[in-house]
Amino acid sequence: MSSGVQWGGQWEHLACGATGEQLWADEDTVFSGHVCGRDGEVTWHAEWHCDECGATGDDLFDDDTVTYSDHNCGHDLEEAA
Ligand SMILES: [Zn+2]
Ligand SMILES: [Zn+2]
Repeated sequence: MSSGVQWGGQWEHLACGATGEQLWADEDTVFSGHVCGRDGEVTWHAEWHCDECGATGDDLFDDDTVTYSDHNCGHDLEEAA
């Protein structure tokens, strides 16, 4: 674990009205897995949260995107030996 950032968000496909939600780690690809054959993109509205310092943010992006919080937490605590 190099980052305390966790993402959580919802996707929506306007063409058919389907929605869903998911949790994932920072710098992971988020993909709804939704394939209905209708036109239009699945869009995500997601928020991230840093467990280490409490910082938060939110973002909008297309399906099948790698998400970056761009959060550089001030303290990168290593386990004390
Ligand atoms: Zn759909
Ligand atoms: Zn932080």
